[in-house]
Amino acid sequence: MTVDAQEIRQQARDIAARVEVAEPEQRSRTFFDGLRASRIPYLPCELQEEAGELYVRCYESLFTLGRTSIPLAVGFTMHLYNLSALATLPVPAVPEFERRRQILVDTVRKYKSIMAISSFGENVKHKDDPSRNVIVTEQKAGSYLCQGRKGFQSMASEADILLFNGQFGEHQGMFYTNIKNQPALVLGPSLFAGAMAPSDTRPVEFRDLVIKQKNVLSLHNDLTDHISFYATAWFEALCTAVYLGGASRALEEVRLFARSVHTEEGHMLAEVDGFMVDSGRLALRLRSSLAMARSFGVCADLYCRLIREGAPAEKVNPVANDLMDCGSCLKYALTAAASDIVAGARALIGTRGMSVKHPMYAINEQICFGSMHPTLSSRLERSFGTEMLGEKPYTGLFEWALG
Ligand SMILES: Cc1cc2nc3c(=O)[nH]c(=O)nc-3n(C[C@H](O)[C@H](O)[C@H](O)COP(=O)(O)OP(=O)(O)OC[C@H]3O[C@@H](n4cnc5c(N)ncnc54)[C@H](O)[C@@H]3O)c2cc1C
Repeated sequence: MTVDAQEIRQQARDIAARVEVAEPEQRSRTFFDGLRASRIPYLPCELQEEAGELYVRCYESLFTLGRTSIPLAVGFTMHLYNLSALATLPVPAVPEFERRRQILVDTVRKYKSIMAISSFGENVKHKDDPSRNVIVTEQKAGSYLCQGRKGFQSMASEADILLFNGQFGEHQGMFYTNIKNQPALVLGPSLFAGAMAPSDTRPVEFRDLVIKQKNVLSLHNDLTDHISFYATAWFEALCTAVYLGGASRALEEVRLFARSVHTEEGHMLAEVDGFMVDSGRLALRLRSSLAMARSFGVCADLYCRLIREGAPAEKVNPVANDLMDCGSCLKYALTAAASDIVAGARALIGTRGMSVKHPMYAINEQICFGSMHPTLSSRLERSFGTEMLGEKPYTGLFEWALG
């Protein structure tokens, strides 16, 4: 199966253009109506066996959408990363999982659904606070009761399906349910105000939600961890597209500004050497980040291919580790790059970029959210430091880059 890259690119550009001119209160509707009418949300259903190509198409789409709205594109990332992970991960050892996830993937495609996610771990909390998670218990054979709370869920009002994990006895399980017209799921108020509010991120309470066996993807830690690690890597890599999109937009605002004003000596600012050098430094940072972002697709493709070919564990495991590292490296470095680029652009444009109607105003507020997404930077630094200082000699080289 192949998709026409030009068609997908054009669809993302058309949606972004429509959102750009929409009235503020219509932007979210315009965004999701445009997406649902396009092929973009359903790319994972079409490219199940081509993880590398899927990643590139998703990345470019999110980048283009992020140029217009970081919060809307971040919300939509939740759908794309989960569906990409579920659709592409081969788990030949658990055919039951493969069967059930195929039903979910086909359902999304058939009904043109959008999927939200409540998965990432609990926030750091006081040692005496009780653990707040969704607890799942089996009622009678084939029926499960879900009770508890999840803290974060973007696209809360838009999504049709909610994917979530929950504690099932000793194990973490993975489940999904319809979210629209679902009285057992109660959404709380929006967590983020201001320019990030359109991500529509809310807590959700599970008040005796009952789900059927067919909505169970996993009931065992091993499988849940396997899927979650792979999905998190996809998230870390893809979310950078949105924030780099915002950074790219900030550079476009620098360009527009620099070509519209002149110095007292009559030189267009875009032709003043110092301004050019400062701008070039930011453009270099963006381009090098985008080049780095490409690596995840190569690694994901290799990983999925090795599993499909039945490669031995000693070949698959190092690539699996690389895939996780690759996602983490991208999230760590590229969200920081996006913040630095926007800070640089802010300094170059000056105060007019801080007026409420200027596109830079919202980007300034939104760009810092990038580094807050999982995996937390402090966790990554500790984990990479531990590995580097371990007993084995350290090179830092990636296995996939050597293969
Ligand atoms: C815009 C946005 C949308 C989101 N949408 C979703 C969604 O749709 N679904 C979903 O499941 N989640 C979503 N999340 C939540 C996300 O998954 C994370 O749970 C959240 O970003 C974690 O950040 P926190 O600040 O709550 O982390 P916390 O765990 O509260 O940590 C706060 C801070 O404490 C410090 N800290 C914590 N742990 C350690 C440690 N071990 N060592 C050292 N320092 C530490 C760090 O400085 C950290 O920044 C979203 C988040 C954002 C920002």
